[in-house]
Amino acid sequence: MRTGIATVCLSGTLQEKMAACAKAGFDGIEIFEQDLVTSAMSPEEVRRRAADLGLSLDLYQPFRDFDGVEDALLAANLRRARAKFTLMDRLGIDTILVCSNVATATRSEDDVLTEQLAQLANAAGEHGVRVAYEALAWGKYVNDYEHAHRLVEAVDHPNLGTCLDSFHILSRDWDTAPIEELDAEKIFFVQVADAPKLSMDVLSLSRHYRVFPGEGQFNLAKFMGHLARTGYQGPVSLEIFNDIFRQSDVTRTAVDAMRSLVWLQEEGAVWLAAEGETQRRPLQLATLPRVPEPTGFNFAEVKTASTAAVEMLLGQLGFASQGRHRTKDVQLWTMGQARVIINEAAPEGSEPAIAALGFDVENPLLASSRAQQLLAPVVPRKSQADEEVFQGIAAPDSTEIFLCQGTLDGTAAWTHEFGPAPSGGRSHGQEAVIDHVNLAQPWQHFDEAVLFYTSALALEPQPFAEVPSPTGLVRSQVMDTSDRGVRLVLNLAPLIQQGDGEHKTFQEHIAFAVDDLVATARAAKKRGLEFLKIPANYYEDLAARFDLEPGFLGRLRDLNLLYDRDADGEFLHFYTATVGTVFFEMVERRGNYDGYGAPNAPVRHAVQYDVRHSAI
Ligand code: MG
Ligand code: MG
Repeated sequence: MRTGIATVCLSGTLQEKMAACAKAGFDGIEIFEQDLVTSAMSPEEVRRRAADLGLSLDLYQPFRDFDGVEDALLAANLRRARAKFTLMDRLGIDTILVCSNVATATRSEDDVLTEQLAQLANAAGEHGVRVAYEALAWGKYVNDYEHAHRLVEAVDHPNLGTCLDSFHILSRDWDTAPIEELDAEKIFFVQVADAPKLSMDVLSLSRHYRVFPGEGQFNLAKFMGHLARTGYQGPVSLEIFNDIFRQSDVTRTAVDAMRSLVWLQEEGAVWLAAEGETQRRPLQLATLPRVPEPTGFNFAEVKTASTAAVEMLLGQLGFASQGRHRTKDVQLWTMGQARVIINEAAPEGSEPAIAALGFDVENPLLASSRAQQLLAPVVPRKSQADEEVFQGIAAPDSTEIFLCQGTLDGTAAWTHEFGPAPSGGRSHGQEAVIDHVNLAQPWQHFDEAVLFYTSALALEPQPFAEVPSPTGLVRSQVMDTSDRGVRLVLNLAPLIQQGDGEHKTFQEHIAFAVDDLVATARAAKKRGLEFLKIPANYYEDLAARFDLEPGFLGRLRDLNLLYDRDADGEFLHFYTATVGTVFFEMVERRGNYDGYGAPNAPVRHAVQYDVRHSAI
């Protein structure tokens, strides 16, 4: 499949955008008119630069408000079109995007539209240019791709075809199945975009919230499957208007964009296979090594220059030290199957932070090869002979992700590289597992992170939530596996104003699940654990919301435990104090409770905010 991207997706100058697209490996680009108009490069220079970079210039866009107008305006529109056709000749671009009229159309009759598009096609023919006519979702009389295609067929001119844009089709919930019936010769261009499901007018959704495929909620696999069945062989190009992408680092966004097209091809191929297709289609959707979902967390790693505070918290929670690694500056702490590595190789003065996560996968080498084909940067990790070699990749927030060999009983072979364990290494706590990990995402990398974990790690994004906090709404995105063996929560933390500057609320945590949370909390309290202190008002509210037995409510209050209940079961949890940017959580899931205590999250945010501010 030929890959493309519109320059409007990216930040920077046209020059910078072109360099980033070439570096990310795109075959071609769409030149967005404003990028050319504001560029210091002449059209000839743009053409030469593209050739030097190995990029083809696939589309010039947009040309607006042509069709369905009165005669006087039509003459002006044709003059305007001819000027652009001449410009395209200088750029060496043979296809122009013409959007269905939004602003100036007064004639809705199909025969008028056909007649006017025929005049445009004739003019285009004289200049050797192809017109790709696109039905905008908010077009005045033409807002449906099938309508646009009918008009194009009625004109029946070799220089007129359609542009299919997944945004305009899926934001209106148009059925994508009829795409298969379209004449592939008449599909001149295909644009793809994803978007979240927001209740908002389509124009605002389009201009600000489009995202790369895999970062929103459109069914693009089905769109691609139907498209492949038409026999279309042209470019599939990203056209994303997104406020954040246009402020972010251009090179990174281009890589994120390319990753989305690699993922999209696989999604299309998988959809076709599920439909029983064996035939290779002309569109040739490239596939990746398929990997099953990870089965669990293998370990979580906290990196810090001074280990004492983390060691103390883990010990008080019931973890036992398994000693130091025989060749590296790392310690292993365990509680049942929950493994935490304390990495001491942090720069002087750096505070504790979650630096790495290990995931149990069926085949680490295959999973790593898949991730690399999805442009995930490789993380090298030194290891000696006879030590386990970890396959590592870097997540967008630079957390290191290690793909580890999963075992049926949940053990990890590499733990033998540690020791000797002080006091026998037996944890004084119960059996525990890592229940979930909550990572704070920088605002400019949030969507990128969703696609990264979806594509490279086969986690499934759940509908996101917004949690109130003293510094604004915290966007919270759960990514998990179907059996919930892995639960990862991505939080978009708001920035805090502090004096003249901005301060990032960068708190992340690792949550462990135990069978008896009250017993765990009691033992931890005895060992002197500093709990996050929950206000008395919370327990009054809890008593009002749930009819709890007074003794139980008293235990929750005494131990700073939080509680939630829904139709599936109950949830008990508590938080530790924060060290550096890390804190820990202990949870008990009763019945089939599947959530994270969402009603309690605002309490946690408010108390942590309070603690931070009284410390300043
Ligand atoms: Mg478009
Ligand atoms: Mg981190």
